[in-house]
Amino acid sequence: MAERVAGPEIERLIQLLARLPGLGPRSARRAALHLIRKKDELFAPLADAMQVARERIIVCRECGNVDTLDPCTICRDERRDASVLVVVETVADLWALERANAIRARFHVLGGVLSPLDGVGPKDLNLDRLVARVVEGGVQEVILAVNATVDGQTTAHYITDLLSHAAVKITRLAHGVPVGGELDYLDEGTLSAAMRQRTTF
Ligand code: ZN
Repeated sequence: MAERVAGPEIERLIQLLARLPGLGPRSARRAALHLIRKKDELFAPLADAMQVARERIIVCRECGNVDTLDPCTICRDERRDASVLVVVETVADLWALERANAIRARFHVLGGVLSPLDGVGPKDLNLDRLVARVVEGGVQEVILAVNATVDGQTTAHYITDLLSHAAVKITRLAHGVPVGGELDYLDEGTLSAAMRQRTTF
């Protein structure tokens, strides 16, 4: 165990920072030191922002997104195409699609994927609300933007079955060559999927 360099309050701060994704103990020390140096400009506002966010954060009952509003900012946004519902596994995936400016639609966060090995079944996912949203009407297309993993694809098939009686078009993300990708570096699964899903030039 490394020698302590500061009192228990600062050590605790470092230990907590080190639990953040992307921050190891070394970066956590650097971050803690930075916060201490910028006590007024950064540390105080950050602590306030964290407290406010912690108190107000809720899960949107409509889509499963996290926000401080319910319905969330995305569900309230009138400029989005309400006829298109993008189904994602996690809030991180929703944010990734929003960052990419991929589509101006509504979302539905499943909160995971079906995984028999990990004991995750249909009841553990936000599926009842998804079916209700589709049945309520207004949705014309459901885009299954789940990961291209075995569990992701199993979940996509399950949802397709679940919605088979609803008058809704179900689509999924294309699988294939990434933008900027070189064929020589791709795995066989990606290459064969790209070939199967080729499009007219
Ligand atoms: Zn929402």
